[in-house]
Amino acid sequence: MEKPLKKVLIIGGGFAGLRALYKLSDYDYHFEITVVDRHDYSLERPALPEVALEGKSVEKVHIELPPVLRRHDAAWVQGEVTRIDPQARKVLLDDGSELPYDYLLIAAGAVKDYDAIPGYREYGYSVCDDTEALRLHERLKSFEYGRIVTGAARSQFGTRVEAPRLNAPCEGPIGEVMFMLDHELRKKGTRDQSSITVFSPSEIFFEDVGDKAREPVAQIMKERDISLYTNKVLRSIGPESVTFEDGSEFPCDLAIVIPPYAAPKFVAESGLGDDKGWIPTDRSMKHLDYDEIYAIGDLNALSQPKLGHIAIHQADVAVSAILRAEGLSDEEAIPYHPEVFCIMNMGGMDATLIFSDALYHGGHDMAWHSKLAKLMKTGFDDEYHYTHGHMPPDRVVEVVEEILQRESRVDDERS
Ligand SMILES: Cc1cc2nc3c(=O)[nH]c(=O)nc-3n(C[C@H](O)[C@H](O)[C@H](O)COP(=O)(O)OP(=O)(O)OC[C@H]3O[C@@H](n4cnc5c(N)ncnc54)[C@H](O)[C@@H]3O)c2cc1C
Repeated sequence: MEKPLKKVLIIGGGFAGLRALYKLSDYDYHFEITVVDRHDYSLERPALPEVALEGKSVEKVHIELPPVLRRHDAAWVQGEVTRIDPQARKVLLDDGSELPYDYLLIAAGAVKDYDAIPGYREYGYSVCDDTEALRLHERLKSFEYGRIVTGAARSQFGTRVEAPRLNAPCEGPIGEVMFMLDHELRKKGTRDQSSITVFSPSEIFFEDVGDKAREPVAQIMKERDISLYTNKVLRSIGPESVTFEDGSEFPCDLAIVIPPYAAPKFVAESGLGDDKGWIPTDRSMKHLDYDEIYAIGDLNALSQPKLGHIAIHQADVAVSAILRAEGLSDEEAIPYHPEVFCIMNMGGMDATLIFSDALYHGGHDMAWHSKLAKLMKTGFDDEYHYTHGHMPPDRVVEVVEEILQRESRVDDERS
């Protein structure tokens, strides 16, 4: 008699969930895969600043999930996960239905908690979700000049796993907002009548990288007259000002913020979270208390900073561990090595590529400000969209690595 297929259930079809699906679907003779997501599309968050500031269409940042799943022989369920019963090995949805699993990959991302900021819904703007990016885009149509304040609210992380606890786990989009707005206002000829003020809840803006990556960005901020205030913990947003926990207030006509990141509620309600609700795992992404549950992407307590690049790496690490556990691979398990790799759009043909593992005491730490970085960003976004969530081919990655090694050598020679 044939052995029954192992049921793999993936919660979330974002960066991490799609990557896990693609990696596991090569083993469809062994696994029966189901993906559940509240939306019938995957959202490419890294392209949202372009939706807000450059008018990119929302269709270009959505990847429809049902056809992707059909092509990979996986089952598709649209629904809201409300609870996981790890003892019974099933996931409960808001319509009362249940999905059983042998392996569960939780890839539900982080909640962007806009409502935790008093005044946000009336006076604040953001780029972290498609609806918010579109709202900001509408607002900018009538914004000629004025006082812009932008920064991230403080997020909180638990203590069960050993990982850096960043106050702001993803400040890159603030970098994009400040530089892209600077570019747009210069184009309009109203930059002189405007101010751009950036705040960070941390002692250091971009605390997820080292000095060599941070300093070139700080230099460009100075050149473009963008001021920076650190140790500013956002308290509330009003009609004409932004207020901080230390009692200070910045006058402002337009506030663009990253809200606090929070873990999805169903994690804590299922008894799977740490003291702040994030999922604690070992370095193979396996839950510390349940052998058949893996957590990948932003909701994993190890994910610092919270980046798509790290979400994808975690999906690879988790899949390699599952394949070994199932006897499907005798290759070494992929070791977990988080690093920052992102390209900051700075408007026009301008961008800076940041590559650093300084947070984890690695040997990389660089910022590469170049038109080529902008071409890479556009190329990556298009590739991701048109291949429905695939990463660039290995040979492209090799070329990028070569360029970065060369740039890093040039940097070392200069300093
Ligand atoms: C504006 C912005 C720009 C960024 N730029 C970059 C960048 O340049 N480079 C980079 O590496 N990273 C970037 N990031 C970070 C990156 O987008 C995230 O790290 C990445 O999306 C995390 O992937 P994920 O799969 O964990 O979660 P997500 O991509 O958020 O996907 C989670 C999925 O789970 C689903 N879901 C959630 N809860 C439930 C539920 N209860 N029931 C059913 N479905 C559910 C959601 O609908 C979603 O589809 C950026 C983030 C933002 C906000």
